[in-house]
Amino acid sequence: MLVSAVGTPADEITAVDDEGRLSQRDIRIISGPPGPRAQERIAHDKAFVSPSLIFCYPLYVARASGCMVEDVDGNVFLDAQAGVATASTGHCHPKVAAAIAAQAQNLIHICGTDFHYPAYGAVCERLNALAQRLSPAHPITWQTFLTNSGTEAVEAALKLSRHHTKRGGIVAFRGGFHGRTYGSLSLTSSKTKYRKHFGPLLPSVFHGTWGSVASVQDDLFAHLVAPEDVAAIVVEPVLGEGGYILPPPDFLPGLRRLCDAHGILLVFDEVQSGMGRTGKMFAAEHFGVTPDVVVLAKGLASGMPLGAMTARKELMTWPPGSHGSTCAGNPVCCAAALATLDLLEESLVDNAARRGEQLLERLGRDLDLKTGVIEVRGAGLMIGVEFDNPARADTVADLCFRRGLLVLECGTKAIRISPPLILTEAQAHTIADVFITACHDVFHGPVPPTP
Ligand code: PLP
Repeated sequence: MLVSAVGTPADEITAVDDEGRLSQRDIRIISGPPGPRAQERIAHDKAFVSPSLIFCYPLYVARASGCMVEDVDGNVFLDAQAGVATASTGHCHPKVAAAIAAQAQNLIHICGTDFHYPAYGAVCERLNALAQRLSPAHPITWQTFLTNSGTEAVEAALKLSRHHTKRGGIVAFRGGFHGRTYGSLSLTSSKTKYRKHFGPLLPSVFHGTWGSVASVQDDLFAHLVAPEDVAAIVVEPVLGEGGYILPPPDFLPGLRRLCDAHGILLVFDEVQSGMGRTGKMFAAEHFGVTPDVVVLAKGLASGMPLGAMTARKELMTWPPGSHGSTCAGNPVCCAAALATLDLLEESLVDNAARRGEQLLERLGRDLDLKTGVIEVRGAGLMIGVEFDNPARADTVADLCFRRGLLVLECGTKAIRISPPLILTEAQAHTIADVFITACHDVFHGPVPPTP
């Protein structure tokens, strides 16, 4: 059966077998990309959509299944970016789709801030239990506030931290990305374009150097803000948008010590690194550091809009009405999250670890300065490839797209590889084959035309 989406009549979607089989397909480039339909649709939509959207390359999606994405011209791509590290269980996983459909027939919305229903509490209970992994030796009681997105989860963490500590200062890190609403944007500093012309931003936000405890202790605390005025240190344990970079060994433990010494809350933004992406449920588990608050979204509900802010129970001192949201944690998103969590726990977190090792091994072996690559790094399926200059990263990402592999850039001159966690061994090899060949071809140029 072919399912039609709004504006995409079924007969206009190139029929490839039935809906379940797309996930079994290989890369197939037959037209463009972008082919004529994609070009026409992109040109048509341009008049109607906000010009602030990025559109990193001209992909116009008709449907997706598993790790495969089909565009409106019938080109089939292997997705090594998962809708920006979000389609954790793959596209349209049958169990997630079934949970969404069943919930949608029962209750779509009632407002979790004002009324009770099972799925909201169930997701919170589940996340609180999972958060025990952040502190295996000392059980902690956690509580969770659900949101619609990552940025809202960061906002919730900022508000809770200020409300609980009665302090105003926030420390974040240069290169970090935490979202685009005013609170989170005040923390975001991965690229100037996110901030340009949007000021003034939130006051009392101070940026250290990501990876350096000394930049907070000896610089910020010595010159700009007294630690007693700081409510929270907010940090991505693994830098995401800023470049897919693993932290130096003493960074997170050092921040923990600093927070403990001054009564500051340590907030881990695991919106991108969480939900199994690094081969553990939370990236923090790799580093043995327990935060006071963890912020989640993206892979939590396989692409349905859901975020979470999970905090130690004793910090949740804000009273009824102090924070809420109309649609956050709506039943359909929660149903998707529960199905997603089942799949992650059953096998996908482990699969991410295994496939990540496989990819890191191949990419690390075959990419070096002779292909313009400075470093291959990462954990699980959060892999960054750093190039010698931004133009090379750009050209490789574009060539991968034209050859049917979807990747995204990050940092100033890196490419992130963040496929769905259901990636098979064969698909991991395909990612490596296409990516390595693209690096070779770009380095040795000129780039051969797309077959
Ligand atoms: N925090 C991190 C680490 C992210 O990577 C992102 C998005 O990329 C966000 C927060 C913002 O999430 P959202 O786009 O869902 O608002």
